Amino acid sequence: MFNLGIIGRPNVGKSTLFNRIAGRRIAITDDMPGVTRDRIEVETSWLDKDFKLVDTAGFDLQADVLKKEMQEQFFKAIEEADFLILVVDASVGLHALDEIVCDMLRKCGKPFIIAVNKADSNAREQAINEFYKFGDVEIFPISALHGRNVDDILDYIYTYI
Ligand code: GDP
Ligand code: MG
Repeated sequence: MFNLGIIGRPNVGKSTLFNRIAGRRIAITDDMPGVTRDRIEVETSWLDKDFKLVDTAGFDLQADVLKKEMQEQFFKAIEEADFLILVVDASVGLHALDEIVCDMLRKCGKPFIIAVNKADSNAREQAINEFYKFGDVEIFPISALHGRNVDDILDYIYTYI
């Protein structure tokens, strides 16, 4: 089954997006960064196509054991995915780690898009401008919390499923 992975730094809203797409509250969301320790998957669909949605722990560049497990989970998620949504945070802005992961995804040739989350208002949507330096990648301003523009992402990915 087509595997759609959600990746991004801790606290950007990956689990909120997972819940929004799955339409149910399955992933655990929390204000505490890195709260999703286990991968959570759900089979869901968009229009007439079924796919597996995979929520992952946030990637972080720290060295303790838990973080190391998260990193391994992160690389496994990338490997297994047919398509990835890289979630970034409009309220934080462009982060060095986002650029590193973006470059990495380009190099390994996985199809992906960037979802600039927490773009809750038109004003916040302006924040996506700085993300255009990522180049030729499709960039969608979304609000996972309010469901804003999430359908656009699914319509785009639909052609890959
Ligand atoms: P994760 O660590 O990437 O899985 O992030 P979570 O989904 O657990 O969300 C982290 C925090 O960001 C929670 O307090 C969410 O309510 C909040 N959040 C998620 N999506 C949005 C959004 O679209 N807008 C706003 N304002 N907050 C959001
Ligand atoms: Mg999470």
